[in-house]
Amino acid sequence: MGVPISQMWTVASYIVKQKLRGNKHYPLVLMLEPLFRCNLACAGCGKIQYPAHILKRVLTPEQCWKAADECGAPMVSIPGGEPLLHPQIVEIVEGLVARKKYVYCCTNALLLKEKLEAGWFKPSKYLTFSVHMDGSEEHHDFAVCREGTFKTAVEGIRLAVKMGFRVTTNTTLFEGANAVAVREFFDEMMALGVEGMMVSPGYAYPKAPDQKGFMQERQKTQSFFKTLMSNRKKSWKFNQSPMFIEFLMGKREFECTPWGMPTYNIFGWQKPCYLLQDGYVDTFKELIDATEWERYGRASGNKACQQCMVHCGYETSANDYTFGSIKGMFATVKALLNTTYADKDAEKALAEERTKPHGPVVQLGISAPKKAEELVGAK
Ligand code: SF4
Ligand code: SF4
Repeated sequence: MGVPISQMWTVASYIVKQKLRGNKHYPLVLMLEPLFRCNLACAGCGKIQYPAHILKRVLTPEQCWKAADECGAPMVSIPGGEPLLHPQIVEIVEGLVARKKYVYCCTNALLLKEKLEAGWFKPSKYLTFSVHMDGSEEHHDFAVCREGTFKTAVEGIRLAVKMGFRVTTNTTLFEGANAVAVREFFDEMMALGVEGMMVSPGYAYPKAPDQKGFMQERQKTQSFFKTLMSNRKKSWKFNQSPMFIEFLMGKREFECTPWGMPTYNIFGWQKPCYLLQDGYVDTFKELIDATEWERYGRASGNKACQQCMVHCGYETSANDYTFGSIKGMFATVKALLNTTYADKDAEKALAEERTKPHGPVVQLGISAPKKAEELVGAK
């Protein structure tokens, strides 16, 4: 199991309380984006496309804490941009930890080693570094469009694990991903001592410059995840809902719960989810009360939602299923016991994958340390 019992208990009791109160639109994870600036420029990123004056702006610690207090979710994920470029990120994280929020600081880890050596952050059960890794070295460097990033991130992970921090990886899988290579990558990450891994298919949202690389067809996504996640090794740990993984594998169906991971950034509360931008409101209450939730999710017929299977839409649905019914609880316990998911068809598909040529072969330009230094210097 990739999630500590204390965190699972917090999440379970929170969901049960929401159910008892009859609160359908409850938040589970606040997606807090304190800045959009980054020291990478990944082809699939929709955040770094903003003009320079927007990329310069940051949320203050007070704004971040107010958002966390307003929404009340037990977990806070801090994506970006790159949170370690925020000059007050330590203060922001400490304030959230003091509120007993389970914080996932989502970083590309280019600066992780340097910042930990400089004394930033203290290990806590409430703080996890969720390191953006898009596969093993060649695939990761290709996906983030820069050579050397994998090695730098691995150094950061090693040091964070050694210092006693909770560390997970988060991996977005794109069209053309090779299940064989991703499985080798899982071995590699577990060998580094990470607590667990998170995976999600990419979603082609309108701001991302490379629209072709995303897994757009549900069936394709399900078949890929079935090949990837069946016949699992016992050593692999996932820091996400087993029901969400079964959903990705096409073993169960959920409807999207976009309110489960509300997004707050320099523009305010984003409607309706982390991916789509149908306007902003000033308060969390307005987000919940004024969003026409029936216009989103697969059942709504909304075109933008038809192929979407990303974690920010469905992980809360999966957790809601687990902790909201006896059936869900039973299915989850069964999933936790049956960790291998033996499947002959998936084994065959994997064997076929092995015979296919795969792998990016482009030469990527700038070295990671050099670019990181440039950006730190430019701060
Ligand atoms: S590391 Fe994350 S925020 Fe930075 S460019 Fe890549 S996807 Fe965007
Ligand atoms: S289905 Fe995807 S795009 Fe649509 S609201 Fe849910 S998370 Fe957003």
